[in-house]
Amino acid sequence: MIDANNPSLKSWVEVPKQSDFPIQNLPFGIFKTKYLSAVAGVAIGNHVLDLVYLHEHGYLDGMGLSSGIFNQKYLNDFFALGRKKISEVRNRVSELLRHDNDELNVATREIALIPMSEVQMLMPVRIPNYTDFYSSEEHATNVGSMFRDPKNALLPNWKHLPVGYHGRASSIVVTGTNLHRPKGQIKPTDSEQPVYCPSHKVDFELEVGFITCTETKLGQSISTKNAEDNIAGLVLFNDWSARDIQQWEYVPLGPFLAKNFGSTMSPWIVTLDALEPFRVKGPDQHPHVLPYLSFEGDRNFDIQLEVFIQPDKSEATTVSRSNFKYMYWNMCQQLAHHTVNGCNIQVGDLYASGTISGPSPGSYGSMLELTWNGQKPLHMPNGTERKFIEDNDTVLIKGFAEKNGVRIGFGECKAKILPAL
Ligand code: CA
Repeated sequence: MIDANNPSLKSWVEVPKQSDFPIQNLPFGIFKTKYLSAVAGVAIGNHVLDLVYLHEHGYLDGMGLSSGIFNQKYLNDFFALGRKKISEVRNRVSELLRHDNDELNVATREIALIPMSEVQMLMPVRIPNYTDFYSSEEHATNVGSMFRDPKNALLPNWKHLPVGYHGRASSIVVTGTNLHRPKGQIKPTDSEQPVYCPSHKVDFELEVGFITCTETKLGQSISTKNAEDNIAGLVLFNDWSARDIQQWEYVPLGPFLAKNFGSTMSPWIVTLDALEPFRVKGPDQHPHVLPYLSFEGDRNFDIQLEVFIQPDKSEATTVSRSNFKYMYWNMCQQLAHHTVNGCNIQVGDLYASGTISGPSPGSYGSMLELTWNGQKPLHMPNGTERKFIEDNDTVLIKGFAEKNGVRIGFGECKAKILPAL
């Protein structure tokens, strides 16, 4: 077991019982305050620990960290030091925060520990490349049933390779960044010609993404065995989608303007180290996959996921409960497949899972599936109905893994849809 994951560890920082950020988590992020420009920090309870302060005052000495490594707008340079270094820093921060460690004296604690209420979380990484997979069998089956043929919902390739496409990195934004309803070409069913108008079918997609911490050369491939060495950690991800734009534009090359108007991610990168205790076996894969996609060990993670909709001036209500463990294709297979042709990866790349739907209707990861393309509207506590996301609705995704009294959470992935510009 990784020392920093020991369920019996306690911190001198008070951590509320249902906090996403006990001492066993220690995710990395970038924040600013009234007094500090963008710097790197670690979440602990309702506080953020300032890594720049710790580093400048010698608490991270002897780790080979260059000066200024945390005093940056993004975590990319730190992550580029590799999985091992990320683990070392997390382990050292864990030591410093333990209840029986007094290396940080009272005065230092006052300065280095900042209440979350006083910080603004920023994009934690600069994302050079964004890939979106389509790796939930339940989601692919639901969409295939709705739009093609329930008897042949999965296309012939689906169980042989993790289907994916290259998305748009420039429009990925951090939680709390509101987005305008997209406009575009839509073809009404009763019309021969398309029209240009705001989307009537804005949807969320419940996803988890992983961030890479290595750079490979063109021509190199990553094996399923080594894949996790290239992954810094995970985030929650909402791959906003405009279903009416998507339906008209996607043939034959796949998603384009229906997806690239904005995607929301959570601000804390939860390390694979912190998620180690939550490994589980994934679904059985039949037919057998080709050798480059075969893998050993448990490569899925038991992370509970929830989606809430909060209409304007109203309370939030849960619309979906799913789990990352349902993924048919795991992250190791996704990365192995992505690079099998020699495609190079870069530090800070984001690889999203694809919509994570579970087996029961309450676990579907999009409005498209939850309302079956609008046929079965959801009821909101304020008496209104939702087929898709309306103006001024806020969509919130939460996620956490829980075991042995330890809850490893991700914080919030949240955004409001504003009226079209
Ligand atoms: Ca997606």
